Amino acid sequence: MEQLIEWINRQALSTKLKWTYLVTSGGVMILSTLFLIGIQLYFFTAALIRQTQSQATMVGENLTAAMAFADADAAGDILSALRLAPDVQSAVAYDVKGHAFVSFKRDQNNPAAALAAAAPAAARDPHAGDMVMDYRGIKVTRRIQVGNRVLGTLVVQSSVKSVYRQLALYLVLALPVMLALLSLSYFALSRLQRFFTAPILALSAVSEQISRQGDYSLRAQVSPAADVGLLARTFNGMLDRIQNRERELEAEINERKRIEIKLDRLAHFDPVTQLNNRHFFNERLEAVIARARKFDERTILMFIDLDNFKTVNDTLGHDIGDELLRLVSRRLAETLRFGDVLSRIGGDEFGIILENVSQGGVASMIAEKCLAKLADPIHIHGHDIHIGASIGISVYPDDATDMHALLKYADTAMYYAKNGGKNAWRMFTPSMRDDAHKRFKLDNNLRRALERNEFVLHYQPQVDLKSGDIVGVEALIRWVHPQLGMVSPSDFIPIAEDTGVIVPIGEWVLREACRDLKRWHEQGFPLHMAVNLSGRQLKESGLVAAVLATLREVGVEPRWLELELTESMLMDASTDILDRLHALTDAGIQLAIDDFGTGYSSMSYLKTFPVRALKVDRSFVRGLPQNPEDAAITRAIIAMARSLRMEIVAEGIETQEQSDFLRANGCDKSQGYLYGRPCPAAQIGQMLAQARTRACIVD
Ligand code: C2E
Ligand code: MG
Ligand code: MG
Repeated sequence: MEQLIEWINRQALSTKLKWTYLVTSGGVMILSTLFLIGIQLYFFTAALIRQTQSQATMVGENLTAAMAFADADAAGDILSALRLAPDVQSAVAYDVKGHAFVSFKRDQNNPAAALAAAAPAAARDPHAGDMVMDYRGIKVTRRIQVGNRVLGTLVVQSSVKSVYRQLALYLVLALPVMLALLSLSYFALSRLQRFFTAPILALSAVSEQISRQGDYSLRAQVSPAADVGLLARTFNGMLDRIQNRERELEAEINERKRIEIKLDRLAHFDPVTQLNNRHFFNERLEAVIARARKFDERTILMFIDLDNFKTVNDTLGHDIGDELLRLVSRRLAETLRFGDVLSRIGGDEFGIILENVSQGGVASMIAEKCLAKLADPIHIHGHDIHIGASIGISVYPDDATDMHALLKYADTAMYYAKNGGKNAWRMFTPSMRDDAHKRFKLDNNLRRALERNEFVLHYQPQVDLKSGDIVGVEALIRWVHPQLGMVSPSDFIPIAEDTGVIVPIGEWVLREACRDLKRWHEQGFPLHMAVNLSGRQLKESGLVAAVLATLREVGVEPRWLELELTESMLMDASTDILDRLHALTDAGIQLAIDDFGTGYSSMSYLKTFPVRALKVDRSFVRGLPQNPEDAAITRAIIAMARSLRMEIVAEGIETQEQSDFLRANGCDKSQGYLYGRPCPAAQIGQMLAQARTRACIVD
C-alpha cells in the first residue's frame, strides 16, 4: 500500500488528475448503471408477478366449472391456454385432497416444473401465501372455489428468464454507450486538464530553464486564475529579489575584481617607466623556466645596470633622472622581439628575459644592441646625457637550472662588466662563481683582518729616469691571510670598497706609509710616498681632515705625499669631491692619476683637476718598444702631459729597452720589476743604503 502511495506521489499532476477523473467518473457510471438495473429488475419482476397473478386468477376462475364437474379434459384445455403466456412455465390444478387434477408444462425438460410439484402442501394449507419468488421464478397459488366451497388449488409458475434477458439486453446496450461516454469525457478532460495545468507547467518550465541557465531575468507568465496567478506572481516576486541580489553580488564581485586587478597591477608595475617591476619579473622568470624545462628550451636572462645614473640623479635632479629612466626603457624595448620580457628591477637596473632562444650567441647580439642603443646621448631639457650600461648575462640551462642561481649569476656577470670598466656586457662563467665564492669568504674575514693585524705594506721603488736614483716609493698593501696566505689587493680591495671597510684600511695604510717615510727621511733619504686612494675614501667628507691629521701626527710634510686616483674616480666626481681634491692640493699634497689610459677621460677634461702627475698604465708599457701602437700612445700621453706641465710616471717597466724608450721620449719617472718588486720596508731601507754607498764609491 505504501509503495502504491509512493508511486502515486511520484506521478505528474496531470496523470493524477486524469486517473482521479477516470476512477470517479467510472465509479459514478457503474453505480448509476447498477441503480438503474435495480429499478429495472424491480419493475420487470413486479410486472411479471402481476401478470402471473392475473393469469392464475383468470385460469382459476375458468377452472371452477371443470373442477366442479371433475371434467379433466375441459380443465386440461383451460390450463393449456397458458401456453399463450410465454413466461408461464408450468401450472398444476390440485383437488381438495391435494392430488394433481390437471397440469400444464411448457417444457418437459425444464427443471422449473419441479416447483409446481412441491405445491400440494401449500394447496392443502389454506393459509399458504399466494406468491413465492426466488431467483429462478415466481410461483402463484390460487384457490379454485365457488362461493365458499373450495374445489382445489391452482399453482402457476413463471420463469424470470425474460426479466434477465431484458436486463442483459439493457446492459448490452448501455455498456458501449457508457464506455463511449467515458472515453469521450476522458478525451475532453485531457484537453481541459492541459488547459488547466498549462500555467503550472509553464511555471515549472521557467524554473527549470532558470536553474539550467542561471538566467534570473526570466519571468513566468501570470495566469488570470486566482490561485495559479498568485503562485506565478509570488514566483516572479521571488525571482525579482534573486535577480536584485544577483546584480548586487555581481557588482560587488566586479568591484572586488577591479580592486584586485589594480592591486595586482600596482604590485607588478613600475609607475616611472610603465614597465613591470621586479616582482613581476621574478614571477615571469619562474614561469618561463618551468616552460623551458618542459619543452627543453634555452632561456636567456640579462641584468642591465646603468653606469653613472646616480651622478645624473644627484646633479640634475630626480625629474630628469626619471625621464632618463623612461627614455632608456624605451630604447631598450626597441631592441627586443615581441614576447621578450623587459622589467625595471631596481633603481637603475633593468632585467630582460629572452625566451626560447636557439643559441647562446643571441644574448651577445642583444647585449651589443642594447649598448649601441644607449651609446647615443639622451637629450633631456637641454642636457645631453651620456649614459652607458653594464650587462650581465646568464643562460638556462647552460649556467644553472635554478631560478635563484640564474638571477645570482646574471648579477655576478653584471658586476664583472661594471668592474671591468663599465659600458660592457659579460656572459657568466663558472670562474665568476668561484670568484664570488672567494669574495664572500674574503668579505667575512676582511672585517677582522685589521684588528688581527693581518695587513702589511710593501713598497715599490720609483726611479728618476735621468739620474737613475730612487726618488720615491709606492705603498702597496698585502693581506697575510692565516689560511689563504698572501692575498693580492686586486682580490680584496674591490670587496673592501663595496663593504666600506676600505675607509679604515686606507687610514691604516696612510699612517703606516707615513711612519716608514718618516724613518727614511730621518735616515737622510728624501723620498716621495705614493699612496693609492679608493673612490670610496674620496666620498668620505672627513677625508681631508683625516689625511692632514695623520701627516701632522706622524710629522711628515704634505709635499712628500702623493695620492693616486683613478680616471673613473674623477669622471664620477661631484662638486664635493672636487672641493676635497682642491683642499688636499691646497694643503700641499700632490695628486696623480693611476693606470692612465685605461679610462675615458680626455686630456682637456683633466685640466679641470688639480693633478700633478700621470701614471701611464703598464698595459701600454708592456708592448714597448716594439708595438707601434703602444709606442704611439705612450709618446702622445707624454707629449700632452708635458704641455699640461704634468709629471709622467711609467708603470710596469720590466726590461731595459722599455726603460730606454721611456727615457728617450721624455718620461720622468719609472716603476717596475726592473728596478724592484714591491717589498717590505726593511728591504727598501737596504736598497736605499746600498744605493748611497754606490754613490759614495762613484764620488
Ligand atoms: P697599482 O696602484 O697600479 O699598483 C701597481 C701594481 O702593479 C702593483 O700590483 C704592482 O705589484 C704591480 N707591478 C709593479 N711593477 C710591475 C711590473 O713590472 N710588472 C707587473 N706585471 N706588475 C707590476 P698590486 O700590488 O697587486 O696592486 C694592485 C692594485 O691594488 C694597485 O694597482 C692598486 O690599485 C691597488 N692597491 C694596492 N694597494 C692599495 C692600497 O693601499 N689602497 C688602495 N686603495 N688600493 C691599493
Ligand atoms: Mg697605484
Ligand atoms: Mg697603476
